[in-house]
Amino acid sequence: MHAFHDIQFALQADTFHAPVKGQFAFHPDFLLLINIDGDIAATYTSDHPHYADVRQTLVAQDKLKVLEKGQYLMPGLVDLHCHAPQWPQAGKGLDLPLYDWLQNYTFPLENRYQDLAFAAPIYQDVTRTLLANGTTSAVYFASIDRAATELLAQQCMDLGQRAYVGKINMDNTEQCPPYYCEQNITAALDDTDAFIHNVLAIKGNENRLVQPVITPRFVPSCTPDMLNQLGKRVQQYDLHMQTHCSESDWARDYAKQHYGKTDVQIYADAGLLNHKSVLAHSIFLTEEDVSMIKAYRAGIGHCPLSNMFFANAAMQTRELLDSGVQIGLGSDIAGAPSPSIFRAAFDAVSHSRVREEGVDVRLSAGQRGTANARISFVEAFWMATAGGASVLDANTGILETGRHFDAIVIEANTTIGNLRIWPEFDTPRDILEKIICLAQKENVKRVWVQGKDVLR
Ligand SMILES: [Zn+2]
Repeated sequence: MHAFHDIQFALQADTFHAPVKGQFAFHPDFLLLINIDGDIAATYTSDHPHYADVRQTLVAQDKLKVLEKGQYLMPGLVDLHCHAPQWPQAGKGLDLPLYDWLQNYTFPLENRYQDLAFAAPIYQDVTRTLLANGTTSAVYFASIDRAATELLAQQCMDLGQRAYVGKINMDNTEQCPPYYCEQNITAALDDTDAFIHNVLAIKGNENRLVQPVITPRFVPSCTPDMLNQLGKRVQQYDLHMQTHCSESDWARDYAKQHYGKTDVQIYADAGLLNHKSVLAHSIFLTEEDVSMIKAYRAGIGHCPLSNMFFANAAMQTRELLDSGVQIGLGSDIAGAPSPSIFRAAFDAVSHSRVREEGVDVRLSAGQRGTANARISFVEAFWMATAGGASVLDANTGILETGRHFDAIVIEANTTIGNLRIWPEFDTPRDILEKIICLAQKENVKRVWVQGKDVLR
């Protein structure tokens, strides 16, 4: 049995998680023991021979919190792709073509973050909002401004969110607007180096709760020299890397015309891919691309609703899940408006269904869609938790011994939100599906990151 001196607290909770892709586990009255480092020291299912003894000891030491019925514990959600400075833009102009949307809204907005007084309250709000929606790990694109991006990293540290924060690099004067472009590659790289150093040096960040991420915006916005220099840093310091990958017809064709390669090949050749790289979107992948992503153990951030607006085609989610490539979900604020990864999970399912059924009523049913393209809600839940964590190479996403305790409590009752559960005829699978479809911010009652209660 476990020694209890290093236990900070323990929970008894009806618990969902998805340790295996395509499956979920439900443990009624699961016991989880959280140590003083915020890691899961031990777990006991209610049929474990020591369960009663362990529980009694925890009660005697006043360490056990018992969740109420109608409350469900699950791993914290992982957002692999969020543009923090675009938060004020969420819900604006989504019916525009991507080029107009970027030029008219995004670039002028991101450029304002040189003003720290402008940046501070927005970064505070977006990080708080994601946490309140149950996102315990977030991968943020910030802006090209170093000081503001360091402010975002500090904000994540202060709130206790596990965060991966990137100062954007974009130096191709042919593709970037003149007012929002790094004009001098040496200065841009010096800034990037200083950013990496300063984030790692944040007080209290010894365990790297907040990590710097190398962030070339995407192939067209960077010069080849910039991509290569950033790749060197990924290799040298073993850093996370995030970027957009083969998001649209235009992006795919740009890579072909200027490099004669795919985005994945370009990133690989520049040294940008490793076991913790996040390739957002990744719509137009070739089979070779998928093999290469797997060989590097890099991962994909699937942003389903954003793809419906801007990607020109549907994600091959079914095939990617079956391929064994690492894949999780992203909100893509503000290419989609919702800060909730439950919403992204729901959208991933509906996205796959539209792809399976097809859309053109003039075609016969057999010709209209792509056979067997659907994914399940359980697969979407896996992407939202364990899948996302594996993309980041983070020891989270599953509630098992040895993992960091990043977790949330979802509460269903008739006084909040729209989530309703009838235990006498809703099975555990029904309950999990309902949570994905109906849970809102109001239903997220508790959020822990590294064992720390971060909502209060
Ligand atoms: Zn994006």
